[in-house]
Amino acid sequence: MSRYRSVLWDVDGTLLDFVYSQRYAMNRCFQTIGQDITEEILQRYQEINDGYWKRLELGEVTKAELLTGRFTTLFEEYGITGVDVEAFREEYQDLLGRVYRYMEDPADSSLDVCRALHGKVRQYIITNGVTSTQENKLRLSGLYDLMDGVFISERIGTPKPQKEFFDHCVKAIEESGAGLRREELLIVGDSLTSDIKGGVLSGIPTCWYRPEDIFEKDASAAVQYELYRPDHEISRLGQIFDILEIQRERL
Ligand SMILES: [Mg+2]
Repeated sequence: MSRYRSVLWDVDGTLLDFVYSQRYAMNRCFQTIGQDITEEILQRYQEINDGYWKRLELGEVTKAELLTGRFTTLFEEYGITGVDVEAFREEYQDLLGRVYRYMEDPADSSLDVCRALHGKVRQYIITNGVTSTQENKLRLSGLYDLMDGVFISERIGTPKPQKEFFDHCVKAIEESGAGLRREELLIVGDSLTSDIKGGVLSGIPTCWYRPEDIFEKDASAAVQYELYRPDHEISRLGQIFDILEIQRERL
C-alpha cells in the first residue's frame, strides 16, 4: 500500500494542453484586431507570458498586471498600435476557456488516467489560472466531475508556489472530512517553480511530470531542480499508478 492517498493535479501542461488553447485563442484575437499572427509572434508571446507568470510566482507583479502587461509588452515589441488591450484581454480569456485538449495520446489521455483513479484516491485540482477560464475548461473537458475539490489561486488570494496557497488546500481537505494528512497527498505538476517548489516549501510530497526534456530548453531549470528536488518524476501520466501502487483497470 502506497503512502499516498490523494493526488493534487496541476492543470495547464499537466492535465490539459495549454499551448494548444493559447495558440487557438491568440489566433482568434489577432483576427479580431485585423493583424496577422506569425509563428515568431506566437513564440515570443509564450516567452513573455512565461516571464510574467514566473514574476507572479515571485510576487513581483500582481495578477492584474500580468493579465494586461503581457499583451502590452507584445504589442510594443512588434509596433502594433491602436488596440483596445482590455477588450483583447477579455476575448482572449474567454476563448482560452472554450477549447481544450487533453495531455498525451488520445488513446490514453489525462482524462483516462483521472477516470481510472476516480474512486481509488481522492483527486484535487491546484491551479494558478484565471477562475472563470479554468472552471470552464475543467467542466467542458469532463475533468471537473472526477475531482473531489478544485483549488484556484485567484479565489484563494495567493498563488502557487506560496506556502499559504498549499496550507489553504491542506486545511480545506482536512476539514472536508477526507481524513488525509499532508504527507499522504501527492502534488503532480509540470512546473518546477510553482508545483514542485510549492510542495517542498509546504512539506507536501511531489511528483514532477516531465513529458519532454526541459533541461535542454530552459537553462534555469537545472538550478531550480537543485534547489527544489521532487520526490518522484514521471514522463507519462500513466506512471502514476506505480507510484500510487494501484492496479490500473482498463476502462
Ligand atoms: Mg502547469
